[in-house]
Amino acid sequence: FSSSGQLCKERRLEPSETPVRIQLMWPRIMNSAIDRTSGLTGYRFYIRKKDLEIPDRTLSWRECSQELNAIETFLTSFLQQVTCYKEYSDLCNLPDLNERTLLDNVKSRFQNSNIYTYVGSILIAVNPFKFFPIYNPKYVKMYQNKRLGELPPHIFAIADTAFYTMLRKRKNQCIVISGESGSGKTETNNLLLHHLTALSQKGAHGSGVEQTILGAGPVLEAFGNAKTVHNNNSSRFGKFVQVNYKENGMVHGAIVEKYLLEKSRIVSQAKNERNYHVFYYLLAGSDEEERETLHLLEPQDYTYLKQSECFILDGFEEERVDEKYEFERLKQSMEMVGFSAVTQKRIFSVLSAVLLLGNVEFKKKGDQHHDESVTVKTESVVQIISSLLKVKEKTLVDALTQKRATAGDETVFMNYKMEDAIATRDAMAKCLYGALFDWIVLKVNQALLAKRHHSDHQGNSIGVLDIFGFEDFTKNSFEQFCINYANEHLQYYFNQHIFKFEQEEYKKEGIQWKNIEFIDNTGCLELFSKRGTGLFPLLDEECNFPGATNTSLLTKFNHHNKTYTYYQVPQLKEEAFFIVHYAGKVKYQIKDFREKNGDQIRPEIVSVLKSSSLTFVREVMGIDPVALLRWSIIRTLIRSVFAFTAAGDNYRTSNRLRINTNSQRRGSDYSLPDSLIPSENLLRKNKSFRPKSKPPTMLSDIKTLKDIASRTMYGSGRDPSKKQKSSVSAQFQWSLNRLMSTLQQANPFFIRCIKSNADKLPCTFDDVLVLRQLRYTGMLATVKIRQSGYNHRLTFDEFIQMYKILLPKGLLSSKDDVKDFLEHMKFMEENYQIGITKVFLRETEKQRLDQALHVAI
Ligand code: ADP
Ligand code: MG
Repeated sequence: FSSSGQLCKERRLEPSETPVRIQLMWPRIMNSAIDRTSGLTGYRFYIRKKDLEIPDRTLSWRECSQELNAIETFLTSFLQQVTCYKEYSDLCNLPDLNERTLLDNVKSRFQNSNIYTYVGSILIAVNPFKFFPIYNPKYVKMYQNKRLGELPPHIFAIADTAFYTMLRKRKNQCIVISGESGSGKTETNNLLLHHLTALSQKGAHGSGVEQTILGAGPVLEAFGNAKTVHNNNSSRFGKFVQVNYKENGMVHGAIVEKYLLEKSRIVSQAKNERNYHVFYYLLAGSDEEERETLHLLEPQDYTYLKQSECFILDGFEEERVDEKYEFERLKQSMEMVGFSAVTQKRIFSVLSAVLLLGNVEFKKKGDQHHDESVTVKTESVVQIISSLLKVKEKTLVDALTQKRATAGDETVFMNYKMEDAIATRDAMAKCLYGALFDWIVLKVNQALLAKRHHSDHQGNSIGVLDIFGFEDFTKNSFEQFCINYANEHLQYYFNQHIFKFEQEEYKKEGIQWKNIEFIDNTGCLELFSKRGTGLFPLLDEECNFPGATNTSLLTKFNHHNKTYTYYQVPQLKEEAFFIVHYAGKVKYQIKDFREKNGDQIRPEIVSVLKSSSLTFVREVMGIDPVALLRWSIIRTLIRSVFAFTAAGDNYRTSNRLRINTNSQRRGSDYSLPDSLIPSENLLRKNKSFRPKSKPPTMLSDIKTLKDIASRTMYGSGRDPSKKQKSSVSAQFQWSLNRLMSTLQQANPFFIRCIKSNADKLPCTFDDVLVLRQLRYTGMLATVKIRQSGYNHRLTFDEFIQMYKILLPKGLLSSKDDVKDFLEHMKFMEENYQIGITKVFLRETEKQRLDQALHVAI
């Protein structure tokens, strides 16, 4: 029997054989001897012929299979009665560990609607593509303050453990969600954030921070998610949400950080994929008046939406997404994060303009053959765009059709050829949308900061990471190259925590330990980022090298064929290369690599958009973080003034404030003079002042905002210390490294999302697909190390301190006394070890000690 209860016939009988001996695949049976010699997890059953009423003669093949069916039925009912087959909610308890039992256990749980399984404190989540009622408030409550493992595995248990570990140890925690595209990361992330904000609301009034955190999700998803072939709601950007808590566990604030939005999607999508959701929501949900003022058309009328021939989200009947409703939901969420109706309208005008840009067409200027310069063919479209963005029509037309160059003192205009004009038009659409997305993230962060509780207490945080999952399409490009690199990084982080650090400690402590093999991907990371010769540096080099092409880039890449096994050249000559990722071999097309990497904000495009007479458009394009900050600084200051005046304080700060902010505006440095910060002393001196809450620590607020602004710039964060523009990949690497160092400083929890089937079918388990994922995430090795590792480790001092009552010499015990004591306890020898500075214990031994302690007390 497989663990799911199905009978697996190990071997079909030969026609000449009588069916009396059947080997069963079955991981565990009570009191049965395991057939160790065969190396199979199997049991040999001998059944008396007479029990089965099998005629005593040689059977024909046909008869034989009929008989086999009879045996199967008999055995199924027999074994159901006599066995106590157990599913393991923690794979570490699997008595017989191999790939098969691992898979069978996960599958059997999945079939019984248990989508979660532990590997120690790691959670495996198999996406069922159907929501079970396990996330309602009843569950939230049930999982509160429960030790991991006390209740069936659940993401709430992970959130809860992270929360209480943070409070107890006063250390930042992070929850790293990984898995391939469509495996359920974003849903998990959203559910986790719900739980993490619900945990803190006990009894107290929600501060609004929670609302903002939860509202941010749907807004960012509408603008940053799209249908791909892998997932109808695929995140095309990475997201790290850090929820800050006060020491008492109340939510204090949050910061959202985003990584690399896929901009190419705005102007083109692969077949059967869509542009960002928000466009379809807007077109489906806006009313007559909006349609008119925003000049909206039908999805089929936009070049940027119609090329992929996919307009609706195909779901299963009852799950079909109602985009009209989604538009309402989006508007509600936007309100939750503080976008007023006016701001919303402005955002929608920008979206309409982006879509219309795609409909701008060009025609050749003259009839002459040699003159290839173009002019705008669809003047009416440009007219509408200029009215939506409030940019002068001529400025816009000029920007789309000619390039300005300065030669000495002279400015010359060069007309674009068809392809240049189209490229410029697309660049403008991407630039505008990208800037809008960044602006939204920045606004969300401002709203989060504004609603923050102020206190002197330095609490801790829990960060939840949901990045784009590993991807392998029929055609993979620069985006997949970056996305998969990020996933390699996460896998590396996982390996470090699960294998490397652990095994290094055993080695350092000199305990007996058989090394557990895991697939180390350091080499693959090196292939990407090695200084000088890595793929990323080579790409940057070719982007700056005049005359370089994607073909010359590929030639340079191909040198790695000899040095790295991770790099492979296709057998047939083509403009592509392979990378052997931890999650599989992916073929990348070199086409557009250079262009996409150099896709910086083009200054001439920015300046056109910045010439808008709409403050909103200028602000969105006002990538200068200082400009963006101006308002938030003033707002913060005004709030602090309110803090004074609201308390009946007669100290007039307002005049002084105005003067100071004015003078600040002139300078480029926005750090505030100390005089502007209400000092504690000042507050204390003024007896009538009864602060309801502590005054804001404004300098740190402003620093944070500045930091966020600079990180959000140019789409994917960049090193503020570098003044010159860097390539997309350089920015991406920089922000990834930052993320990694944030993660390194936190205590991690891992959630491994697994896709149950490629067709997104509800409750369908594809063995091959799941096994592949379990394999490449290194789950077998993970279970092994968790099983044979020592989860509890205490320094001798800690041990003596903790178990002093049990030790004959109490606090005066020495290392040898501890050794003697443990021997005296008669623990299983392999279940504990004495290292140089620490005692290592397995779960059972720790429990026994704790029990003994309990009895002694
Ligand atoms: P990813 O972010 O890993 O690409 P998503 O989180 O967007 O994947 O999940 C893809 C789809 O799978 C969702 O739209 C949803 O239909 C389904 N799904 C994900 N997680 C769950 C879950 N826990 N329960 C039920 N369905 C889920
Ligand atoms: Mg996602």
